[in-house]
Amino acid sequence: MKGGPDERPDGGPDERPDGALDPVARLEELRRLVAHHNDLYYRQDSPEIPDAEYDALVAELREIEDAHPDLIVPGSPGQTVGAAPSVLFAPVTHRVPMMSLDNVFTPEDLHAWTDRVARHLTEGCRFVCELKIDGLAMSLTYRDGRFVQAATRGDGVTGEDVTANVATIADIPRAVAGAMGTAPALLEVRGEVYMPIAAFEELNRRQHEAGGKAFVNPRNSAAGSLRQKDPGVTATRELAFWSYQLGGIEPAPGTELPPEVGESHSATLAWLERAGFPVNPDRAVVDTPDEVLAFCRRWEERRHDLPYEIDGVVVKVDDLAQQRSLGATARAPRWAVAYKFPPEERTTTLRDIQVSIGRTGKATPFAVLDPVFVGGSTVSLATLHNEDQVRLKDVRPGDTVIVRKAGDVIPEVVGPVRGAGTGAGHGRRRPPWHFPTACPVCGGPLVRLPDESDTFCTNLDCSGQRIQRIAHFASRAAMDIEGLGEQRVELFVGLGMLNDVADLYAFRVDDLAGLEGFGERSAQNLVEAIATSRSRPLSRLLVGLGIRHLGQVGSVALARAFGSLDALMAAPESALADVEGVGPVIAASVVRWFESEVNRGVVERLRAAGLQLEEPGVPGSGVPGGEALPQTLAGKSVVVSGTLEGYTRDEAEAAIVGRGGKSPSSVSARTFALVVGASPGASKVSAAERHGVPVVDGTRFAELLTTGEVPTSS
Ligand code: NAD
Repeated sequence: MKGGPDERPDGGPDERPDGALDPVARLEELRRLVAHHNDLYYRQDSPEIPDAEYDALVAELREIEDAHPDLIVPGSPGQTVGAAPSVLFAPVTHRVPMMSLDNVFTPEDLHAWTDRVARHLTEGCRFVCELKIDGLAMSLTYRDGRFVQAATRGDGVTGEDVTANVATIADIPRAVAGAMGTAPALLEVRGEVYMPIAAFEELNRRQHEAGGKAFVNPRNSAAGSLRQKDPGVTATRELAFWSYQLGGIEPAPGTELPPEVGESHSATLAWLERAGFPVNPDRAVVDTPDEVLAFCRRWEERRHDLPYEIDGVVVKVDDLAQQRSLGATARAPRWAVAYKFPPEERTTTLRDIQVSIGRTGKATPFAVLDPVFVGGSTVSLATLHNEDQVRLKDVRPGDTVIVRKAGDVIPEVVGPVRGAGTGAGHGRRRPPWHFPTACPVCGGPLVRLPDESDTFCTNLDCSGQRIQRIAHFASRAAMDIEGLGEQRVELFVGLGMLNDVADLYAFRVDDLAGLEGFGERSAQNLVEAIATSRSRPLSRLLVGLGIRHLGQVGSVALARAFGSLDALMAAPESALADVEGVGPVIAASVVRWFESEVNRGVVERLRAAGLQLEEPGVPGSGVPGGEALPQTLAGKSVVVSGTLEGYTRDEAEAAIVGRGGKSPSSVSARTFALVVGASPGASKVSAAERHGVPVVDGTRFAELLTTGEVPTSS
């Protein structure tokens, strides 16, 4: 599993004089470390290390205990669940212990588990696959249909009474629904309390404004919010609940138990749902291990489409008699397993903090890291956003830091590992890092504007900015010049051949052939690619000019509204601001850009080089054959989710905007249609269902564009 053999996150190896590891000493050390991290995580809701590092410690501890059963002592954290309850809350003894789950981290281990289950059972079995919600386990008790108690898991035997706090969670029914007939005399429902991501972000924004400490992740904010002495505080935090287990049920005198609850786990979940408990809809009952794996893989890919965090999939044997036959170990059932997704947070050493210069001159600090495998790839650089972020996170070269890479999001440094053994807790930390005052590329001054969090290199001649500007001009979303990436731009700028984007159009094959990395053929290809870019529409050129705030959607809108660069340049700022999708900030930035003599000089040279400064298809654009696109989607808002064949995301958006529509990123009651391609976001699809928004299959996108109507039977 995760981590290399050299990655022992805390503490060092205990070597015997003969060089071998001393299992007794290492075991003691591991027990101490795991108990320490359990206390921080479960009782103080404030972990110091990422889960993957903690899991590695526990795995090592269990490995040694498995190899040396004689060394197992009662209460070893390798054999127990969670941590003892805090004295802040009254203790609650669970009627049936609340267990943990065994983890698997690879498809092979998952198959080994399904094989073990199959070997034990005489007949085949079905599996229920559920999302593993990243929150905290909760037991809810109802007597005669009324909610009377909520308890945390604690150490599995004794939990904490958090009834008053849990009573503030809107999702949790106060009474078992009347539709169930006579309510059971006793009902215990188990599930996960969690904090939706949006609520977590909002809470951290509030914490930031109030000068308070930020929460690390939604799981810890959920636990911290719930385990408050004052339920009034819990009430201000947006918490939610998914039920996933029946803890126990006793029928009212003279009544029978509902038949489903004795039958299977899936039928029990359906019964809980009917009784008014929230049960996660993204679950499946499957027959084969391959289908289990397919479910795990699907959700590993889509985990970031959900409005809450999940850290894996829980797989359970469906048949309750089979569950009983499989039984449990001291800490976890044998009939269930958690398939954990690869970690998205890991620790590594921060070697240095450097600053990169973007095309607008923005100076962005970034971390240079010891390479670490996280979120599915090896990360050695991570953004630190801006000066305030570095200060707030208080990361310093030499620190051990937590690096996070979630989905497609760029990797970032969460903060230093505080406390025991490493980084910020250490006495020998280096002094705080200071933002440089000179540009690392040109040596010009770096200036932070008042009321802005960003710092800029103000030297317009800075070659760092120039390289980024030209590479952006050539990028796919802009002029799409194949073969002209940042490295080549850097080469040409370094040789003094390329000062601005207009210089590109003077390149000849002879100038390039023989330069580092160029032969006759590649020189020819690049010159041809540059020539082809002359006919890109105005909207692409506008993107390529790199005007601050003006992105793809705004560029398309302006190009379509004015048809030609001359018309755009002649238009007053208010006319630009009036264009749908543009607004005053972009309009002001565009006008300012064209006011600059240097910029106008570049535009004139581009004109002289024969670039098409018009948008085909707009009447009066002067481009032959150009007809205005019919405004089929005027005033309509169409959301796109997933990958559409034949369109990049930007192209799909531009196609909607070009027809008068809008393409926001989220679905609301006002959305005209949701177009779904491959791997759409589950949250968008469920929002569409909630608001009754029609869902259009991606293959019928063209039809929607042409007719402006939702294709029938889609
Ligand atoms: P676990 O989180 O791996 O699995 C058991 C828990 O999963 C259950 O108790 C339940 O709360 C939850 N769960 C979510 N969805 C479920 C579903 N659909 N069905 C059943 N259960 C579901 O085990 P654990 O013992 O609670 O805790 C271990 C976790 O806590 C690990 O992820 C570990 O990394 C983390 N941890 C981290 C630190 C740290 O210092 N970073 C310290 C202690 C524990």
